[in-house]
Amino acid sequence: MSLTIYNKKRDFKKTSEPSGKIKKSSSKKLIYVIQKHAATRLHYDLRLEMNGVLVSWAVPKEPPKTKGIKRLAVMTEDHPIGYEKFKGTIPKGEYGAGKVEIWDKGFYELKIKDEKKIEFFIHGKKLHGLYVLVKTNFGNKPGKSWLFFKI
Ligand code: MN
Repeated sequence: MSLTIYNKKRDFKKTSEPSGKIKKSSSKKLIYVIQKHAATRLHYDLRLEMNGVLVSWAVPKEPPKTKGIKRLAVMTEDHPIGYEKFKGTIPKGEYGAGKVEIWDKGFYELKIKDEKKIEFFIHGKKLHGLYVLVKTNFGNKPGKSWLFFKI
């Protein structure tokens, strides 16, 4: 868990995103959020609180509300706790320039976690139920590519 890449990519004099420090959230419930991010390409950023950061995946298509739809989820840099509240516009020329909206939020319960699989119960508004992230060789970023779907 590290926020070095997160901090390196951003100029906090220019973007209103929070700067990164590892910390535990005050709640006992683990943070779950999906932010809709209209960057160069529209995508959905899935973030799950783990060990003092928000572990993050970029999902290029709308996350599935029902079973039977599998989405590619590309792991991106860890984000700081607090980022789940961020919405607004990242200015032109900055990393991730474009509008960020909170698409869904709530908490999650971790069920299984190993190198290749994370199974978790999402308590959100748009997404609710048991979901899984499974590591895959699919996509153009091997090692970072996962599949995200409801089970
Ligand atoms: Mn993003």
